[in-house]
Amino acid sequence: MYDVAVIGGGMAGMATAARLQRRGLSTVVLEAHGQPGWMCRLLLPQGLLV
Ligand SMILES: Cc1cc2nc3c(=O)[nH]c(=O)nc-3n(C[C@H](O)[C@H](O)[C@H](O)COP(=O)(O)OP(=O)(O)OC[C@H]3O[C@@H](n4cnc5c(N)ncnc54)[C@H](O)[C@@H]3O)c2cc1C
Repeated sequence: MYDVAVIGGGMAGMATAARLQRRGLSTVVLEAHGQPGWMCRLLLPQGLLV
């Protein structure tokens, strides 16, 4: 059981989860895709992720 469930592991969700954890709340991030980041992830032609 968690204190907080954050829906979405984008930049906003991950930052929120980190802040909540720092305040002592157990937090789970529920992300629809396989990896966090979503809009702030950029696929370059060489296949690199930023
Ligand atoms: C090419 C590009 C360049 C950019 N350049 C800049 C820049 O220079 N400066 C700047 O400030 N911003 C820039 N941005 C914008 C910035 O990347 C976004 O504003 C930011 O990443 C948004 O973060 P977010 O967490 O709000 O949303 P998102 O990144 O969209 O994350 C939302 C997450 O929630 C998940 N989700 C949604 N619904 C559900 C659900 N029901 N259940 C589970 N998970 C769910 C999604 O899968 C996603 O991972 C750029 C964006 C792009 C695409």
